Amino acid sequence: MKLYNLKDHNEQVSFTQAVKQGLGSQQGLFFPHEVPEIESTVIEEWLSLDFVTRSSKILSALIGDEVSEEELFQRVSTAFTFPAPVKAVSDNVASLELFHGPTLAFKDFGGRFMAQMLALAKQPDEKITILTATSGDTGAAVAHAFYGMENINVVILYPEGKISPLQEKLFCTLGGNITTLAIADDFDACQSLVKHAFDDQELKKAIGLNSANSINISRLLAQVCYYFEAVAQLPQEKRNQLVISVPSGNFGDLTAGLIAKAMGLPIKRFIAATNANDTVPRFLASGQWTPNKTVATLSNAMDVSQPNNWPRVEELFRRKNWALNTLGYGALNDEQTRAAVRSLASQGYVSEPHAAIAWQVLTEQLQEGEYGLFLGTAHPAKFKESVEDILGQTLPLPEPLAERADLPLLSKTISADFSVLREILLDSVSHN
Ligand SMILES: *Cc1c(COP(=O)(O)O)cnc(C)c1O
Repeated sequence: MKLYNLKDHNEQVSFTQAVKQGLGSQQGLFFPHEVPEIESTVIEEWLSLDFVTRSSKILSALIGDEVSEEELFQRVSTAFTFPAPVKAVSDNVASLELFHGPTLAFKDFGGRFMAQMLALAKQPDEKITILTATSGDTGAAVAHAFYGMENINVVILYPEGKISPLQEKLFCTLGGNITTLAIADDFDACQSLVKHAFDDQELKKAIGLNSANSINISRLLAQVCYYFEAVAQLPQEKRNQLVISVPSGNFGDLTAGLIAKAMGLPIKRFIAATNANDTVPRFLASGQWTPNKTVATLSNAMDVSQPNNWPRVEELFRRKNWALNTLGYGALNDEQTRAAVRSLASQGYVSEPHAAIAWQVLTEQLQEGEYGLFLGTAHPAKFKESVEDILGQTLPLPEPLAERADLPLLSKTISADFSVLREILLDSVSHN
């Protein structure tokens, strides 16, 4: 697999390099030169395989001979140890539940596969530092995926007080090779600290800097696999009428879905659903890119007003000659989100704010004869406080959360000041 930097097409890297590097120069994202188009008969065959076997074939088609299919099979078996079931909500709508992994959100797929690819790409005695910003779920997935791995140091930044207390418990209680920093600012500030660090060549070299954000191509490739898994579970007659609604923040999940479609997976169209941080829906409606200041919402993993992966979405549309106006969109404020959680619960499906937004926008836009799928991006108990408050009922804590709920938080709070972060980063390496 060859990739180029979207900001400088002359910067070309292999898959392994892209995994290790994360971002290119000028903070440009890497994008594959070629997205293989798979014949429909081959796709049909793939759809009859089990999740892990099929995923190794998809990843092998994407990555090419840099990593053998057998190696990929081993790595995928280690990473994808939990299912992605499609659960029917009504006659023509279902949820793709992506929250059955160790940190109860879809980010487990990308985080765990990336950990495997990074372990494969680096020299055994090479020390690296993973620096990542999270609005909640990425941090947990990355922390758990890398916890205890040798010569890998993980530093996670998150906006102080803007992620749920249980979410914080999930990844800020690990210790060991995992350092968590609460930044006294919003998610965009965390993200810009990370970008700043990547621009600091001296620091980058000193600590072997790598990112585990959704900007890392390996995470996106892993996510492509569950779109195939979703279609594999649908009856034949529904496969060609499929509309998928994606609750979006940084737009990594949507990018992965579009890559699956570009490969030939029969998906009629996508809908990008956001909360009040609606830069993309407003852009699609007006053609104007005018990000507002990020606001805190009930669906905090989508509190992003300058989505990282949007340039990749545009690049794919451009290269495939797809018209951008075929991409559906919608945005809900918190009040509408609450109503959506209630309305979905009244159909017998208890969900959480992110998925409920995708469901609501989907049901408003689904046409006669179409079959709708929305991504269940997190387990409802991960947003226990808000879901209980909205529905007036108590949710049981699933195992991974119950285990950590009473452990002490190990995070340090710092201001959004790069020089402070820099010190901590240099320090964390010298102690390792
Ligand atoms: C990360 C996340 C999203 C947004 O996904 P992107 O790939 O950043 O668009 C949506 N829902 C949940 C629960 C998440 O954790």
